Amino acid sequence: MDNLKKLEVWFVTGTQHLYGPETLKQVAADSAKIAGYLDKAPGISQKIVFKPILTTPDSITELCTDANNSKNCIGLITWMHTFSPAKMWIRGLSILNKPFLHFHTQLNRDIPWESIDMNFMNLNQSAHGDREFGFISTRMRLNRKVVVGHYKDPEAIERITVWIRAASAYNDAINMKVARFGDNMRDVAVTEGNKVSAQMKMGYSVYGFGIGDLVKKVSEISPSSIKKLLAEYGSEYKLTKSVAFSDTLKEAARIELGMEAFLESGNFKAFTTTFEDLHGLKQLPGLAVQRLMAKGYGFGAEGDWKTAALVRSMKVMSQGLKGGTSFMEDYTYHFDPKGMRVLGAHMLEVCPTIARAKPAVEIHPLSIGGKEDPARLVFKTTPGNAINVSVIDLGNRFRMIVNEVEVVKCPDMPNLPVASVLWKPQPDLKTGAAAWIMAGGAHHTGFSTSINAEYLEDFANMIGIEYLLIGEKFDFISFKNELRWNELYYHISDGII
Ligand code: MN
Repeated sequence: MDNLKKLEVWFVTGTQHLYGPETLKQVAADSAKIAGYLDKAPGISQKIVFKPILTTPDSITELCTDANNSKNCIGLITWMHTFSPAKMWIRGLSILNKPFLHFHTQLNRDIPWESIDMNFMNLNQSAHGDREFGFISTRMRLNRKVVVGHYKDPEAIERITVWIRAASAYNDAINMKVARFGDNMRDVAVTEGNKVSAQMKMGYSVYGFGIGDLVKKVSEISPSSIKKLLAEYGSEYKLTKSVAFSDTLKEAARIELGMEAFLESGNFKAFTTTFEDLHGLKQLPGLAVQRLMAKGYGFGAEGDWKTAALVRSMKVMSQGLKGGTSFMEDYTYHFDPKGMRVLGAHMLEVCPTIARAKPAVEIHPLSIGGKEDPARLVFKTTPGNAINVSVIDLGNRFRMIVNEVEVVKCPDMPNLPVASVLWKPQPDLKTGAAAWIMAGGAHHTGFSTSINAEYLEDFANMIGIEYLLIGEKFDFISFKNELRWNELYYHISDGII
């Protein structure tokens, strides 16, 4: 996960020959200035590359072809400095297979009241030039984000920043391989789904492995590399002497190294495990999963490949930002009328990037799976805003559901030896949970304190899946209608695939 500023977003300006070479020179200079400003703007996580201005259908088509063929280009920002008759864009846009953002901006922030003349009007036409481009994008039913504002407006730049991170995740997803160690937890429905549809829609491919393939890698780990990793545990976490020198921790280190070697050798970016298929492993991988998530791998428990891929995508979006991103599960409720809460946790596998303080390594029995007591990191989470995200397979389409939540301080739970998060769902627990259940949202989620709902909205839009938000402003009647109307919309727009 070290791709920051290595990928490119191309800044593309549309115009036409009508205005003469002098005006076009100015258009090019202005566009280069805006592209350069965005490239240096804080928060922009990839390079913004200025591209020569486009004046003909052929040059537009060539640019779109180049973008499709470029490994580094993850999307386009389009802007019509002047009017750019949009029939010129049809051929190019019809073949473009990268996401694009339409930046409705202009070079000048203010109208120069004293000096404005017809030359100025001829040069600065985006207010109507971008409408022409907007029409053809809508006419062609193209997914895109529209951002409006002066190019130095921090709010507008923030919208672009979010979209670029979503585009980075999209680019990552279409190259993503997910490894499954074992199959699904038996009889569970929501973690199932159509992997062929998922690959067609969301890009990633899912590979199944017998647990023996992983066990083989684990058995090949040398004592010296285990010793080195144990020292790392000692410096990164709180642990008692009895834990530090236990065979259990040694075994956890061996599993971690074996898993990492397996994932690296196959170039996997996400993985799943299941406690129902651990044959040959001495303990359920807990610490290993937690640490691999912290390194950027997506994870889903009980064979949940959709959540594993989602967690990876959320990690790509949030790379370098404050806070963290983890696999999560709604575990149990606090129905106190003075403050209803959800306790989120898992058997073991919560990512330490969301930890409030230095985590502790602990070893306790697991009342499920029938294996040795596993090692795990135990911690609580920093209060603040967060999101829970679920992707489900509805048979004819994928649906993403986002619930905004507020992480709150959690009382001590001395007898609960797992990492956990306490949150208040928006708009409140009763409404939030009812809406989630009505929408079919899973018990497993991708949880993040780094990114907000807008990242997921942009991402869902790029991959073309249904997006539902359960946020602070929420109306249940509208939501129920949205569910009903979406059934019809997706049936018609996508058909049954
Ligand atoms: Mn679970």
